[in-house]
Amino acid sequence: MMESCHIWITGIVQGVGFRPYVYNLAKSHQLKGWVNNTSNGVNIHVEGETLAVQAFITQLQHNPPPLAQIDQITVEKNAPEGHLDFTIQHSQDDPADFIPISADVATCADCHRELFNPTDRRFHYPFINCTNCGPRFSIIKSIPYDRPNTTMRGFNLCPECQAEYQNPQDRRFHAQPIACTVCGPQISLLQANHNALEGDPALLQARQLIKQGKILAVKGLGGFHLVCDAKNPAAVTTLRQRKQRIGKPFALMTYDLQTINAYAQLTKAASEQLASPQAPIVLLDAKQPSQLAPDIAPGQYRLGFMLPYTPLHWLLLEPATGYPDVLVMTSGNLSDEPIAYRDDDGIQRLSCLADAFLLHNRPIHMRVDDSVMAILDEKPQLIRRSRGFAPNPLRLKTNLPPILAVGAMLKNTFCLTRNQYAFISHYIGDLQNAETLLAFEQGISHYENVFRITPSLIACDLHQDYLSSQYAQKRSGAANLPLVQIQHHHAHIAACLAEHGRNSADPVIGVSFDGTGLGTDGVIWGGEFLLANTKGFSRPWHLAEMLLPGGEVSIQKPARMALSLLWQHGIGWDARFESMQALSDIEKTTLINQLERKINTPLTTSMGRLFDGVAALTGICQFASDEAQAAIELETAAWQERHTTQKGYPFALEQGKINLTAMLASIVEDIQQNTAKPVIAARFHQTVAQIVLETCIQIQHESGIKIVALSGGVWQNMLLTQRTTTLLKNQGFEVLLHRQIPCNDACISLGQAMIAANYYQSNLE
Ligand code: ZN
Ligand code: ZN
Ligand code: FE
Repeated sequence: MMESCHIWITGIVQGVGFRPYVYNLAKSHQLKGWVNNTSNGVNIHVEGETLAVQAFITQLQHNPPPLAQIDQITVEKNAPEGHLDFTIQHSQDDPADFIPISADVATCADCHRELFNPTDRRFHYPFINCTNCGPRFSIIKSIPYDRPNTTMRGFNLCPECQAEYQNPQDRRFHAQPIACTVCGPQISLLQANHNALEGDPALLQARQLIKQGKILAVKGLGGFHLVCDAKNPAAVTTLRQRKQRIGKPFALMTYDLQTINAYAQLTKAASEQLASPQAPIVLLDAKQPSQLAPDIAPGQYRLGFMLPYTPLHWLLLEPATGYPDVLVMTSGNLSDEPIAYRDDDGIQRLSCLADAFLLHNRPIHMRVDDSVMAILDEKPQLIRRSRGFAPNPLRLKTNLPPILAVGAMLKNTFCLTRNQYAFISHYIGDLQNAETLLAFEQGISHYENVFRITPSLIACDLHQDYLSSQYAQKRSGAANLPLVQIQHHHAHIAACLAEHGRNSADPVIGVSFDGTGLGTDGVIWGGEFLLANTKGFSRPWHLAEMLLPGGEVSIQKPARMALSLLWQHGIGWDARFESMQALSDIEKTTLINQLERKINTPLTTSMGRLFDGVAALTGICQFASDEAQAAIELETAAWQERHTTQKGYPFALEQGKINLTAMLASIVEDIQQNTAKPVIAARFHQTVAQIVLETCIQIQHESGIKIVALSGGVWQNMLLTQRTTTLLKNQGFEVLLHRQIPCNDACISLGQAMIAANYYQSNLE
């Protein structure tokens, strides 16, 4: 029996070796026909023995190539076309179609082997890659994914590479970024007052400089890194000073897992993630005592490690006697700017930070930061979803109209939807300067172009001052598109629901704890208990309002928040408290005057600000370079007590508000009795977990709802998340946590899109 059929496949099926795989599979079943890439997937026509055709389809479904993500396979019988062979045809582009494109993929084991094999023709070649690995998203300019549409366009294949590219038996068959020493990109080293070096001499000199304690700017996959020896305290401190980054931790890179294990607690899940094709930075508990420079992650109990993910990194980290085994690999930028990725811009912006530049001539089209991941209960939890993950879409349960959601201000991402896909962008950053805004705008037009999305609706935050909201307003005005403004904490919970495939009308209890988000009443929210679905929400409970004297100033100087809390709750303070000593007499007098007369003292219900106040009160943090620092230091202190069970402090639930007077009075008592700081920190964490439990029980009594969604940056606090989920689960609650999408404001764009879709649909009805 003969059979002939046509097969359409959608999903991430381009740039992942799908066509060669189909080709070889068809050959092995003696099938004739063809395969091609189209702008919405892969198209196959096969004809041959019925059993062979069926076996072919079963294999496709159950055993696709490792990097592929198949969303749908459609099979239709048709008339035989009478082919004599099986061939790979040219890509077809239909301007109306679209397809997800692959994220960048870390160097695979086969390429790694060749890279260090002296007899291989790509021995020590810093751009070795194959069908299963290498750059993708960062070099793609447009679709379909073929070499001329990438930044590899300018490199003509040498005869040997050409032969590999055309040979279906070769593991570089149709690998678009294929390259070698003869025909591909090259590295070079720039150093002031020295001649530029190229190739191996450039690499050798770069390694030499690192060994000498110099700081190198290294152009990588999605942008520049600043690199130095992690065990050289002087180098690390110099880097920190030059970067003007007071508290932010530096990421580290080692050659292998074994080396990481010497400095941090490696678990099975962490090892798997580190060695995965996404190769993220994974946050691991640091081992003490440590030979690493103390300035790497001040005030933190965790270190961010990653393994090399490009051949150049492997070469830079290759072990040698007397050569550093851990390198700092922090993003190549000055404080809050986005990472540099173009050569000219990188050299200009980083010249005051780096002693030398290790460059290469393969252009980066899209800037992509390293992804950051935490491990909670031996499962990955993304903190920053970027390289290796973006632009892979989240597949939704329902189809969405084309929506552009512009996200929040901090940790911005945007989100574009089409059909069942939500394309959440790579990490853009804090939209507080012109460079980041430009990256945001360029990112949006790139995504709209490569995924061919023309938004029919724009969603933004309620807060008009966000640069993202202003962009949304301008764009909606110019294109006459409806604009929907969405409350920040509602967006948080909607994002968590979307991630869990819950688009139903059934509301959940949404516990949205973060630093800042504008509430519908004009108050700065952030300690919210919502009843929410992806359509709407109510706010049955929240933290009692606190005063935030001077707004931003109090975030940088948490002692102001401490004094404000004590003043507001009528609790006397002691001049010997560390938080009181952190304020000068004039500051204290001015502050109290400000509080008494309510001059520039906005109200807030923010859990982040409560953490700030308590961190200062206990004497743990008096100066914060960014809004999460005080909370992180408080967590670090509490973590020291992780093996003991500390009693929580008293609090009261009163008519929709959580009253914290009793808790604050007890903390002050503890301080006066010289209770150890970590104990107070642990008791505070326990209290917050109990507040969540008691409030959820209260809401459950009123509503019968037993599902709790946790969202907002406060939930990056692993200790708090662990304690809270344990309490909730023991009480029979189902807990929804963010896993694939960060719980911080990077999830806001997804939540906005989900809520806006409902607005869109109800307006159509
Ligand atoms: Zn490879
Ligand atoms: Zn070549
Ligand atoms: Fe938030």
